[in-house]
Amino acid sequence: MKHGQCKYCLKKAELCVSHAIPNAYFRKMFRMDGGNAIHLTDGPDKNKKTQDSGSDYLLCEQCEDAFNAEFDRPAISFLKKYRTQISSTGHRGIYPIRNLFQFVVSVIWRAAVSRASLYSQVQLSSADEFRIRSALFNRKQLRNVASVSIRNLSDSTPNGFSESELANFIQPPARFDGISKGKNYALYAMIFDGFVLTIHLPRLPYPRGRKRTFVTSEHRRVFAADFDIFSYPPMLQVMRSAFQKYKAGHQTFKG
Ligand SMILES: [Zn+2]
Repeated sequence: MKHGQCKYCLKKAELCVSHAIPNAYFRKMFRMDGGNAIHLTDGPDKNKKTQDSGSDYLLCEQCEDAFNAEFDRPAISFLKKYRTQISSTGHRGIYPIRNLFQFVVSVIWRAAVSRASLYSQVQLSSADEFRIRSALFNRKQLRNVASVSIRNLSDSTPNGFSESELANFIQPPARFDGISKGKNYALYAMIFDGFVLTIHLPRLPYPRGRKRTFVTSEHRRVFAADFDIFSYPPMLQVMRSAFQKYKAGHQTFKG
């Protein structure tokens, strides 16, 4: 605990060690890889093996508890059940969900206000940060701030990654900037538990944002279409380089 101003309610209080991507995923990675999580990186650097779970003093105890109860726990539980469904039956189909949209928005907001180096690509203008924080307070506004999608990470290449290997990655939010209908937007893509979660800021215009892989703030069902790691242009460069490095390291380790 450390005394400071809660980033959410702005009250002065003892602050908790908060996470953007829930610590549960890092704990799982640490267990599976001898205490290290694998973070994918682009560029010439090696993928980092690290124990950094991207924590920072962000929220007072009350807000931390509220974020955990309203966003993190329902989303972790949903993603776990969905992962099991996909693994056991192969069905990518719908599954009831509460608050996945809100969870993803809350992760990006926490990443933006965090000083953790893991989240250095997540930068929001102070106006956007205020807008998103207000929308997390007043849920009715949430639908206006972002578009959120979920896909199931897959690899169709021969001898490619298995589903369990893919489920072992954590990709902190990577930023891609684009223009849609003359408007600038930022796309953040993150990976954990074998899912690719994306968020567009500001939200995409109708009907692009109504495709079924997009999650809405009202809908209780999702459809995570497969997302082939080597087939999606905006992320191809970052992910190809990162996955190839991982694969090279992985093969060396195995061999
Ligand atoms: Zn607070």
